[in-house]
This record gives sequence, structure tokens and C-alpha cells, in this order.
Amino acid sequence: MRLPKNNTKSLERVTKAEFDEWNQITFKAFYKIWILVLAVELLLFVFYKPNPECGRLRYFWLFIVKPSGMQGIAMLIVVGLSKIKRKVYHKRVMFLSTVILISIFAASAIWIHTSVQLMSMLLMLPLIITTLYKDRFLTWLQLVICIAVYALKELYFYPHTPYFPPLNSFINVSIFCGSIFVELFLIQHVQDYVRIMEKRADRDSMTGLYNHKLFYEQLDQEYAVYKKNKKPFSLIVMDIDHFKNINDTYGHAFGDEVICKVADIIKSLDMPCQCARYGGEEFAIILSDTKLSSAVETAEHIRVQFEETSFHTEDGMRQFSISVGVAQISDECTNGKDIFLKADEKLYTAKQNGRNRVCS
Ligand code: GH3
Ligand code: MG
Ligand code: MG
Repeated sequence: MRLPKNNTKSLERVTKAEFDEWNQITFKAFYKIWILVLAVELLLFVFYKPNPECGRLRYFWLFIVKPSGMQGIAMLIVVGLSKIKRKVYHKRVMFLSTVILISIFAASAIWIHTSVQLMSMLLMLPLIITTLYKDRFLTWLQLVICIAVYALKELYFYPHTPYFPPLNSFINVSIFCGSIFVELFLIQHVQDYVRIMEKRADRDSMTGLYNHKLFYEQLDQEYAVYKKNKKPFSLIVMDIDHFKNINDTYGHAFGDEVICKVADIIKSLDMPCQCARYGGEEFAIILSDTKLSSAVETAEHIRVQFEETSFHTEDGMRQFSISVGVAQISDECTNGKDIFLKADEKLYTAKQNGRNRVCS
């Protein structure tokens, strides 16, 4: 048997927004599980028949305060850790919150219900979830934690359990139903994860803008809408001027910074549009329901903003420029690609005419 291959992608960076989104999804799932477990324990408490060995107060402490307190504190600690500001956010750190929470939740359930032998099966759930992370390190870590929790159960929890409530079918049914709901919440958690990753696959990882594939899909969709309602839309394409020089003079990392700045300017546009980085230093913006004249205004606004942006370099402050081509959809276009070719032709004209300009 082989564990999933370690994949350097686990050390892949994620954006702060993705990191925060994942943590929110995780806390939401575990918060629901926490409430559910508390509800099941309270239900069992209501129907608990006290005996000389264990009164109601002791039962309340052992089976409600202890597990819910432990899970609640774990959630607070992990929330606190996730709020620490970092320079870079890694996927592995992002998934660690799930590993920690799922382990503590499973451990507390096993600790409380020491006499329910099948509870140990709960330790399988965290392991199955690790397939999502595609990170052999996290699978090993989870495996070690699960074995440690099992050993703790056999060597410590079981011998030191102060009171075993007599098992009956009511307890069994409640625990079974509770476990089914916990699984449903975890399935929801997995689906949320898949949704995030799908969204991520369509985005350019450096700028968060649409990638090449999503851009052409959206352009075709926009064209289909145009065919139906005949409302014109426009397309802006742009390319950073002399970018090879920028890379050669100041390095690739600096070049990336320049690319991100253009993306930031595009993202700050206060209008409904679909923005893409469809090539290395090439960007495109689809403007729905927009005529050529307003698209040119927008393009000019971006060009000027970028031209006025200063970058720190070893030669002091430097400014760079972009060339822009703009086109509006017309009946000559027979698909989305045609408007792109029109705008790209204009971009070429802007380059030919001396760069740092908008052509339409
Ligand atoms: P022009 O004004 O005619 O556009 O000249 P140019 O030098 O910008 O030429 P071109 O557009 O062909 O240059 C693209 C360069 O962009 C080549 C490639 O090395 C660089 N590049 C592509 N992707 C990236 C990236 O992600 N980061 C960095 N730093 N450079 C990239
Ligand atoms: Mg280029
Ligand atoms: Mg260029």
C-alpha cells in the first residue's frame, strides 16, 4: 500500500483571501459539529437516571462540560492561530487547522465514550479526509496523531475513566444518529473544498484574475448573450511595454511585482467587468453592455494610472507603461475570438505608433 505521493504543491502558496476562506469554511463545519455534539449530550443528560455512583451534577461535568469545553477551547486556539498575520500563506499551514480540529474532536469523543468500542472507528474519518490535501506529510501526521489517540485511549482514557454509564439502545441510537450528522457536515466541508479548488483552477494564481481558459469561455458566453439581446459589449486588451527589458534589468521577481500592480489597477475598477491575465504580461477586460467610447475612457484611465505609478528600483524611482487596444462587438464578428482579434490588432497598432497609448 502506498500513501498519496508527496506533492510539492502542498508548499504552494495560497492568497490570504483563500487562506481566510478555507478557515471560515472549516470553522463553520466544526462549529456545527460542536453544537450538534452538545445537543446530543444534553439529550442524553435529560434522560439520564442518576445512581449512587454518579449523580446528575457529576454526569454533567463528565459528559458535557469536559468534551464541549475541550472542543470549544480547541476552536478558539485555532481561530486565534489563523488570525496571525503572515508574510506568505502556504497550503500546508492552511490545512493544518483542519488536521488539528478534526483530531481534537475525535479524541474528545473517544475520551468521553471510552466504553463505546466502536468510537475508535472515528479515528478513520480524519485519515480519509487527508486525501484532499494531496500532501503525504499531512497524511503521515494525521496517521501518527490517530495512533497516538488510540494508544492514549487504551493506556490512559480507559484505565482512568471515573464512570462508565450503563450502555443502552437509547445511548447507542443517539450516538449513531449524531455520527451520521457529523459525517454529513464533513461531506459538506469536502464539497466546499472542491468548490474552492475548482474556482482556483480557473484563476491565475499570481493575480487572482481569470486565466486564459476562463477568459475565452467568458468571451464566448458574452458573445452568446450579444447574439440574443444585441446589447453591445467591448473588450480591452493590454500589454506592458518593453517588459523583457524590465525583467532583464531588474529581475523576474521585480517583473512579477509590475504585473501584480497592473492587476491591482484593473481590480480596482469600479464597474462590472470580467478581468483576465491571458498571457505573461497581457491582460484583457470584458465590459458587458458597454459601448466603445466608454471602454476607451476606461482603458485610458488604466493607462494613466499605471503610467503614474512609481516603482522602487536600484536606479531610484522608475515608471513604466502599457499599450492598449479596444474593440466593440459588431455584426462582422462571428464568435468571441473575432472581437479578441480586433482588439489585439488595435493593440498592435498602439505598439507600432510608439507604445503607451490606447488605440481603438
Ligand atoms: P513590447 O513592448 O513589444 O510588448 O515588448 P516586450 O518586451 O514586453 O515583449 P513581450 O510582450 O513579447 O515580452 C513578454 C515577456 O514577458 C517575455 C517573458 O519573459 C516575460 N514574462 C512572461 N510571463 C512572465 C511572468 O509571469 N513574470 C515575469 N516576470 N515575466 C514574464
Ligand atoms: Mg506580450
Ligand atoms: Mg510586452
